Amino acid sequence: MAVDTAPDLLPAILQEIAAEARASRDRGKVADYIPELAAIDPDQFAIAIARPGQPTLTAGDAAVPFSIQSVSKLFMLALALGRLGDRLWNRVGREPSGHSFDSMLLLELEKGRPRNPFINAGAIVTTDAVLEGATPREALGALLRFIRAAAGDEAIHINDRVAASETTTGHRNFALAHYLRSHGNLSNPPEMTLGTYFHQCAVEMTCTQLANAGLFLVGGAGAPRLVSQARIRRINALMMTCGHYDGSGDYAFRVGLPGKSGVGGGILTIVPGVASVAVWSPGLNHYGNSHLGTQAMERLAARTGWSVFGPDGGV
Ligand code: GLN
Repeated sequence: MAVDTAPDLLPAILQEIAAEARASRDRGKVADYIPELAAIDPDQFAIAIARPGQPTLTAGDAAVPFSIQSVSKLFMLALALGRLGDRLWNRVGREPSGHSFDSMLLLELEKGRPRNPFINAGAIVTTDAVLEGATPREALGALLRFIRAAAGDEAIHINDRVAASETTTGHRNFALAHYLRSHGNLSNPPEMTLGTYFHQCAVEMTCTQLANAGLFLVGGAGAPRLVSQARIRRINALMMTCGHYDGSGDYAFRVGLPGKSGVGGGILTIVPGVASVAVWSPGLNHYGNSHLGTQAMERLAARTGWSVFGPDGGV
């Protein structure tokens, strides 16, 4: 388990990291597959640290809402495991894919069983599983209730314009869904499951809200109890091995903590037993993960000593 080595130094460390991010010239490339994301100002950066029972610390643009995109896969997974338990693993695996988030390659080789719940194919199956016995409206209502309860914030909502744009441009996701269906691994019509999936991707949150929403995965005294300790451990394991697609190994190497990224530039990282950290910067690296967000997390881990693999001597 990581140890809370430097609580008094955290505010200064956050300011320092935000200043470094602000000064950075290489900011990555903002996602441009939908106009709502393409229009986002790449100069923004935010970081927030939530710890059970303590005030959330922030630096930068932590009050600006952004599209959480694939970070939503984590909340939908928690919901699916709550409803189906281990039955979910009959339909989706627990191995890193080593391929991009929207890759079709392994799906054909592995007969429609996606490698893990954090790539698009696996997330589409997870959402489809939550739709067993629930309408899309009910599933999305349950997802929002979960996220709001986790964050302790009723203001969190879905951006319908983003969801509509995702639907117009989501040809690859439609291909994945139809392919899953051809293998009997999609119970609902592709439009129905994808309609739900596109809306979950369009949840908007600020960095502060996202850090607070991650507290349920920190565990320990004072953290919200929305899932069991055993499930916290397993979701964190999946975040570590699969949370950054084909960049998961790199994130584990550089940061050493379980994290889940989204193409909107957000990353939620868990320091087990200690803290939930959200970073946001819209420019992406070549894996589709936030460029400055990853760099900021690498610096935070080095300066605090936070890592599940033992402390760093400093970068
Ligand atoms: N909405 C995006 C998609 O499904 C989410 C991908 C991501 O955040 N990596 O393609």
